[in-house]
Amino acid sequence: MPDEPQRYPKAESVADFARNLDAVRARIDAAAGRAGRPGAEVRLLPVSKTVPEERIRLAVEAGCRTLGENKVQEAKRKWQNLADLDVSWSVIGHLQTNKAKDVAAFADEFQALDNLRAAEALDRRLQAAGRSLDVFVQVNTSAEDSKYGLPPEELIPFLKRLPEYAALNVQGLMTLAVFTPDTERVRTCFRLLRTLRDQARDLDLVGPGELSMGMSGDYETAIEEGATVVRVGQAIFGARPVADGHYWPGATNGR
Ligand SMILES: *Cc1c(COP(=O)(O)O)cnc(C)c1O
Repeated sequence: MPDEPQRYPKAESVADFARNLDAVRARIDAAAGRAGRPGAEVRLLPVSKTVPEERIRLAVEAGCRTLGENKVQEAKRKWQNLADLDVSWSVIGHLQTNKAKDVAAFADEFQALDNLRAAEALDRRLQAAGRSLDVFVQVNTSAEDSKYGLPPEELIPFLKRLPEYAALNVQGLMTLAVFTPDTERVRTCFRLLRTLRDQARDLDLVGPGELSMGMSGDYETAIEEGATVVRVGQAIFGARPVADGHYWPGATNGR
């Protein structure tokens, strides 16, 4: 049987990872260039969810220094088992309040803050541990029920409450675009996040005003629309064996 053309490259050696990282970095720089921005303005956050620890070690050897994980349990296990490596952990998925203690213990960044109960729980645990945490507020820019994140109209009131939580350092906003091959609909989501960021920044509510948007399928579009952080998994680590609907109920792999 002929091999299917691979949408994402394999990554089974340090050299594979180095090549994939270089390729993504080059596309980041090119997209930034199209938008008249320096590529150095865009941080690449490699997303290692579902990737076994042996392969994560290869990626770290190839240069990954921060890793994004969307499930707290999985992130915590990897943090423990890879404690000998010099990496920091970014939790990019929904947080159940009962897991706040774990995130406060090991994460350096949390990108999916969207409710005050989580903010309160994180802040309490962080204060107890004498730590602080960089946070991004997740916004639902696609109006899909299946996505987490605040509705856009609730963002500003939410941001106004966050100074109560001194251990949380607000860095910016995060979103997932609609799952569709239609680039213009994807772009609309990213534009909305940027507009919201501009409004929040005018009110001095969003720290440096970072924009975490864009994944393997759409990071170039996100950069054209102002992304300062892109969260890229499959283009670095290879295709995930399971459909995205596993992570985001209702999502299809339509792009
Ligand atoms: C998995 C995930 C990504 C990366 O998706 P890829 O398709 O692997 O690039 C980005 N952001 C979030 C929140 C994720 O869960």
